[in-house]
Amino acid sequence: MMHTAKYMHQILDLALPAYDELFEEIDLSGLVESKGIMYIWNDQNLKSRELEIQIRNEIGAEQQLLSRSEIHDLEPNIKNIYHAGVFYKKARHARNPGKIWVKLFENFLKKGGRFLKLNIKNIDFDENNPVVRSETQRFIFDKLVICCGAFSKKLTDKLHENIPLDTERGYHIHFKDFEHLISRPVVFQNRGFGMTPMEQGLRVVGTVEFGGLTNPLSKSRIKNLVDNAKFLLDGLPDSHEDEWLGFRPTLPDYLPVIGPSKNYNNVFYSFGHHHLGWTLAAISGKIISKMISNENTNLDLEPYSSLRFS
Ligand SMILES: Cc1cc2nc3c(=O)[nH]c(=O)nc-3n(C[C@H](O)[C@H](O)[C@H](O)COP(=O)(O)OP(=O)(O)OC[C@H]3O[C@@H](n4cnc5c(N)ncnc54)[C@H](O)[C@@H]3O)c2cc1C
Repeated sequence: MMHTAKYMHQILDLALPAYDELFEEIDLSGLVESKGIMYIWNDQNLKSRELEIQIRNEIGAEQQLLSRSEIHDLEPNIKNIYHAGVFYKKARHARNPGKIWVKLFENFLKKGGRFLKLNIKNIDFDENNPVVRSETQRFIFDKLVICCGAFSKKLTDKLHENIPLDTERGYHIHFKDFEHLISRPVVFQNRGFGMTPMEQGLRVVGTVEFGGLTNPLSKSRIKNLVDNAKFLLDGLPDSHEDEWLGFRPTLPDYLPVIGPSKNYNNVFYSFGHHHLGWTLAAISGKIISKMISNENTNLDLEPYSSLRFS
């Protein structure tokens, strides 16, 4: 557990500065809020969370313990069912992640990046160069990055590497026009779900389901999100929007795979960022680009290597 905490912290600590570099080149007006994130819980007091609080202190993660009245001051609309909480004041949240990605993507194209939307079926090699194949097309590259989230295993299996990647399925809904009820993301730890105020409404996400990549969405998990949101907030409507199921890519030790493949030094991996892939996208891209161009990162990258599973 300490190993995971230490090496998640190493990259999480760099996540916001890495975004800052990308954000210098786009107009983010109104799309990012810097109001921190709050975790709350009931049925247990602060002492019961001693171990996790202590671990965060040990690794140097900045946190502020919250009493009931402090929680109320920060988020007065949350029903008074909590016993205590933790506040991470440095955290930011996106008002609309999709809009931010479109801006970053347009910048990528402006700088000469090329985008093709194809379903990649296979990877093999022409002499030493990786060859990527869709149903009808093939491309030869000098270097290749596989970053297909939970679907990456389909491709890494073809490179003779058995990486135990699975998916933690998570669920999502919006309550349109109810984002004003909270000011920042609030995570309710006892029930494993969180709420975020966004442009599209009050976002409610959560649950962890081990159900693979093909099974349909479970309606009972959507109901669970609705019930949980109503447990914390009064006045939510009967209807909600944007039900979806997403595939968090997760490895057994809860660290991502970032680095060269075991068998081919011109193929790189970046996947397995579980619940934090949006947060860690910029720093992971930065690390991978430095690896590809043989630049030093001054980071200990061994813990993210796929070799740990071989
Ligand atoms: C409900 C929910 C809420 C979440 N909230 C947060 C949050 O608040 N903060 C946070 O940091 N993270 C959050 N996450 C986690 C985050 O969404 C993931 O960690 C992240 O999406 C992983 O990014 P990725 O690019 O590795 O994979 P993905 O986002 O899954 O992207 C992989 C891409 O590869 C493409 N692809 C796959 N196979 C192929 C193929 N064979 N050929 C071509 N293309 C292919 C897919 O189409 C897809 O576009 C949440 C996840 C869920 C489900």
